[in-house]
Amino acid sequence: MTTPLRVLVHGGGIGGLTLAVALARSGHTVEVVELRDELDALGVGIIQPSNALHVMREIGVLDACTAAGYPWEVLTICDPTGATLAKIPQPQLDGAPSANGIPRPELARILAEAVTAAGVPIRFGTTISDLSDDGSGVDVTLSDGSSARWDLVVGFDGIGSPLRTLLHGDRFTPEYTGFANWRVTVPRLPEVQGVVISVGRSSTKALLTPITEDSMYLAAVTAEEPGFRADPATAHEQLRERLAAFGGPVAQALAGVTGPEGIVYSRISQITVDEPWHVGRVVLAGDAAHASTPNLAQGAAMAVEDALVLARSLDAEDEVAAALTAWEDRRRPRAMFVQNLSRALLKEETGGATTPEEDELLKIGMPGAAHVLVKPY
Ligand SMILES: Cc1cc2nc3c(=O)[nH]c(=O)nc-3n(C[C@H](O)[C@H](O)[C@H](O)COP(=O)(O)OP(=O)(O)OC[C@H]3O[C@@H](n4cnc5c(N)ncnc54)[C@H](O)[C@@H]3O)c2cc1C
Repeated sequence: MTTPLRVLVHGGGIGGLTLAVALARSGHTVEVVELRDELDALGVGIIQPSNALHVMREIGVLDACTAAGYPWEVLTICDPTGATLAKIPQPQLDGAPSANGIPRPELARILAEAVTAAGVPIRFGTTISDLSDDGSGVDVTLSDGSSARWDLVVGFDGIGSPLRTLLHGDRFTPEYTGFANWRVTVPRLPEVQGVVISVGRSSTKALLTPITEDSMYLAAVTAEEPGFRADPATAHEQLRERLAAFGGPVAQALAGVTGPEGIVYSRISQITVDEPWHVGRVVLAGDAAHASTPNLAQGAAMAVEDALVLARSLDAEDEVAAALTAWEDRRRPRAMFVQNLSRALLKEETGGATTPEEDELLKIGMPGAAHVLVKPY
């Protein structure tokens, strides 16, 4: 693209902020619209695998991420007693660290600072009310009553994407998997120096992820009825019941969870938009287009890869339509690999029935996936 574009990013999450920085660094005019009043990310952590860290390096925030987080190299698999079954070194992409655990609020802060440093405004407490694409631009009205014309609108507005609904109605809606995730931040145990996954005898799985020198998060994946919600008053007791069969470091971590404060309960859902991810000059990316179950810890990694590749495709092509097609041709196979294998792993870990296609993917498994995803995106 020889002429800088005017791009509106709908959603100031991990993917949207990454896109804003990448586009601004290429000279485009960008604005971010975020529904929340501030970037108050969930108070738990997130794993940044090497491919996500490579993107962080490309937008200039890798050192800030590793300084605020806990870089690590080896994934450990344990039985429910905490006895080690396997140690799996994580590969590196092009010299980036193998992985980094980081508190989500820290990642949001780092990305927001990079957005501000790049001169991109974030409009908080605002959303798109209406848009009209005439083929050469998109006229957008925001909820604050303002309106402007943009060359491109990108929906990085999450799994529940209101922009997706605006484009497609209710044709694509998140599918609940029957499983939920409980997360809570606790003091780091000295022996937890990388992610530790404990696989139970039932369908329950527990994870420990270091996110700073002093803290780690305990996560549990449990089967839950669609209508179930964690009780805000007794969530710690509910979590304890579900992890009662675990010993070792999981039990030690759990002993520190004495109240419901800080427990984040999330239903695990997924969605695929199996039509083109753009309609004219309006694009869906990240979770809005392809949210996966978190079994490979690659959802946000896919979102930031989407963001960087989109910015580069816009730089490389002369026309917006060609750039969007080239972007999706590159992104869809990788995002679908993550989604399909993540779902197969969830089924395998929880005793669900797998399809022949999923059995093929499971031959690659989690260790093999790390080597697939460490190839340039
Ligand atoms: C339990 C769990 C654990 C996970 N762990 C990992 C992990 O370890 N590693 C990893 O890579 N991924 C992980 N993921 C996945 C990861 O969180 C998501 O894939 C990632 O956040 C997607 O980024 P995104 O930018 O597409 O969407 P989001 O990060 O969800 O951001 C969407 C943004 O859009 C905003 N928004 C929503 N509606 C509107 C609106 N109407 N107007 C304006 N703004 C709006 C939201 O407020 C939000 O800021 C996990 C997911 C779950 C559920």
